[in-house]
Amino acid sequence: MGRGGGGAPPGPAGPLGPRNHLMIARADLRCTSCGRGLTAPGAAAFLCPSCGLETIGRDARCRDQSVPYKCKNCGFVGP
Ligand SMILES: [Zn+2]
Ligand SMILES: [Zn+2]
Repeated sequence: MGRGGGGAPPGPAGPLGPRNHLMIARADLRCTSCGRGLTAPGAAAFLCPSCGLETIGRDARCRDQSVPYKCKNCGFVGP
């Protein structure tokens, strides 16, 4: 336990519109490409651009290296 992780501001003034874009990294999500936990800064998770049902996790390393990912739900592969 203790303090850790990125210091993401809560943002009292919520943005207008659907929040289906990049989400803040969550500890219970893992990088779809390499399986590492999305706890490091720069990690992101988003819904599959193809089916929109599966959450795709991307850690900073795989994002930087453009490692391909594959949707577990529909099999979509993309950068
Ligand atoms: Zn990764
Ligand atoms: Zn998909």
